Amino acid sequence: MKTKKNHYQIVIVGGGLVGASLAIALDAVGIDLVVIEAFAENSNSQPSFDDKSVALSLSSLKIYQRLGLNKVLNNAEPIKNIHISDQGHYGFTRLESEKLNQPQLGGVIENRVLGSALTTELRERAIEYCCPAKVASAKKIIKDDKNFMRIQLEGGKQSIDCDLLILAEGSRSNLKSQLGYQTEVTDFKKSALVCNITTQNPHKNWAYERFTHNGPLALLPLSDNRMSIVWSNTPEKSKELLEMSNQSFAKELEQAFGSRLGRIEKIGKRNAFPLMQLVTSKTVSDRCLLIGNTAQQLHPIAGQGLNLALRDIEALSKKIEKLSLDKECKLDSKNWLDEFESERMSDRLETIETTEALARLFSNPSKTLSLSRNLLMKIMDVTPIVKEAFAMKAMGFKA
Ligand SMILES: Cc1cc2nc3c(=O)[nH]c(=O)nc-3n(C[C@H](O)[C@H](O)[C@H](O)COP(=O)(O)OP(=O)(O)OC[C@H]3O[C@@H](n4cnc5c(N)ncnc54)[C@H](O)[C@@H]3O)c2cc1C
Repeated sequence: MKTKKNHYQIVIVGGGLVGASLAIALDAVGIDLVVIEAFAENSNSQPSFDDKSVALSLSSLKIYQRLGLNKVLNNAEPIKNIHISDQGHYGFTRLESEKLNQPQLGGVIENRVLGSALTTELRERAIEYCCPAKVASAKKIIKDDKNFMRIQLEGGKQSIDCDLLILAEGSRSNLKSQLGYQTEVTDFKKSALVCNITTQNPHKNWAYERFTHNGPLALLPLSDNRMSIVWSNTPEKSKELLEMSNQSFAKELEQAFGSRLGRIEKIGKRNAFPLMQLVTSKTVSDRCLLIGNTAQQLHPIAGQGLNLALRDIEALSKKIEKLSLDKECKLDSKNWLDEFESERMSDRLETIETTEALARLFSNPSKTLSLSRNLLMKIMDVTPIVKEAFAMKAMGFKA
């Protein structure tokens, strides 16, 4: 597949959850762009639109609402309340939307359903989504007194130029290494087991985060009384959980989670993912910007990867809209990119650091850390101001 033109203001490489959301936001501010995606639109192997689910914070739902993405909002199962507990201890805390005067704390949507809503929207808004087409290389071209970015499609099919290149290729981005970005890798030596389940008792829009002996276990409410689980374990334990029968898996899960939702009645396909944090220190360079998992892949404990990217997307589209009001839209100036990076720095660093700290605090079986967790939950439960600050963060707002 080739793109319609050979020059665009912006080329987005990667039409996954982040690239597709970004394209919709930039189209809304009048940017001439193309999204290039390696996988065909309805391919089952599209890695971004897989069987996992994402918990969208209230602030992310509001971003999608501002973009007019009702298909996303209609398909997201509301999270009304959150219950946080530690296996084998009494400490627990609850965040309840009603007590916080909010209609809901967030929403949960399957990646496949979100992906399909986003690609349908791209088509309906006539945003160019070139797929399947893989970008093989990218470089900066300086010609006469002009400079721009040039990308090459795999197989030498076509080269495309742009004023600004945005990499939304996910964490295994080849182009960012080609362009010289450095990535810091932290291996948590854990793996996340993911699947959907149905429980005997209805979830009533509660989400649960439980700290088990092996690692955190999250249960998120989905439509039709299903729940999406993300269970962090050692790679050996995850392998064992993946390979056991449904019956044995249900027993293990009931033991770890307890009996709040009764028996586990149905178990969907199980998958496991290694838990790594990949952080690129610089996210911009001359005429190039990294976003989503290309900039940072986070531990899923706090469910922040896509939520952080959506906050970046909203800030970026506002910045570009402001620039476009200038008669000569200067997408080529590096100054605004540096400015954008520093404006987003505190949210980015805070999200990365908090996620990493939570992953370490809540994945460690040590008795001292377990006491700290319980103390933290007890403090939160009896101190409304601490709880409210935590809730604001969970909903994606500044506390
Ligand atoms: C178990 C788990 C649970 C999670 N839960 C949450 C949650 O509750 N809330 C939350 O906010 N986040 C969550 N996340 C994180 C979230 O899923 C990711 O942050 C998000 O999906 C990243 O999307 P992306 O588009 O940046 O990258 P990807 O999903 O990796 O998409 C990259 C896209 O680029 C394409 N591509 C790659 N290279 C090329 C190329 N050279 N040319 C063309 N196309 C290319 C790929 O085909 C793909 O479609 C979770 C993650 C995990 C692992």
